[in-house]
Amino acid sequence: MDFYPIAIEKLIEEFAKLPGIGYKTAQRLTLYILNLPREEVKEFAEALVKARGTIKYCSICGNFTDTDPCSICSNPSRDKSTICVVEQPKDIMSMEKVKEYNGIYHVLHGTISPMSGRGPEQIKLRELIRRINGEVKEVIVATNPNIEGEATAMYISKILKPLDVKVTRIAHGIPVGGDLDYADEVTLSKALEGRREI
Ligand code: ZN
Repeated sequence: MDFYPIAIEKLIEEFAKLPGIGYKTAQRLTLYILNLPREEVKEFAEALVKARGTIKYCSICGNFTDTDPCSICSNPSRDKSTICVVEQPKDIMSMEKVKEYNGIYHVLHGTISPMSGRGPEQIKLRELIRRINGEVKEVIVATNPNIEGEATAMYISKILKPLDVKVTRIAHGIPVGGDLDYADEVTLSKALEGRREI
C-alpha cells in the first residue's frame, strides 16, 4: 500500500495492532482522526499517554487503579468477607453493574489453559491464596463459562477447600462459551443469585 503518506500508513498500522481492529477499520479510524481539529487530536494523544503512565494494578485485588489500594479495596462499606474472582479488570466493570454485589474482587489476569501451556503459576492465584484469612467467608468464582474458565474454577475450588472457605461458582445464566462482558446486568445478577458451591 503506497498511496498514503508514510505518517498516515504508520497511524493505520498502529490502529491495526489493537484487538478486534482490522485494516479497514484502522483506515477508517485514521481518516476520522485526520479530520478532527488539531486540539482534539492532541487531547486524545495525551489521554493515551497519561492513562498508560498513571494507571497501575491494585496491590490487593489486581484491578486497574490510580491509587493503591484501589477505590473498591479501600472502601470501608464494602463487604470484605466475600471475594469475587474474575479473569480481567474489565470483568469488575461488568460485576459492578450488578447492584446487589457489595463484596470485593480478585483479578486473576488470565486463566489456566493446559492447551496453551498456561499453568496456575502464570496467573494471580498465589496472591488469591494469600488473601484467604479468617475474615474471608466466601469466594465467588466468576470466570467466563468456557473450557478455560471452568478449568480455572475447578482448580481454585480444589486449592481453597483446605483453607476453610466456601467456594461458589456463578450460575450459567451466562450462555456457555459466553463472556461476562456481553452479559447484561439482569443475566449477571441472576447468575450471581443462582451461584452454587463447588
Ligand atoms: Zn483493589
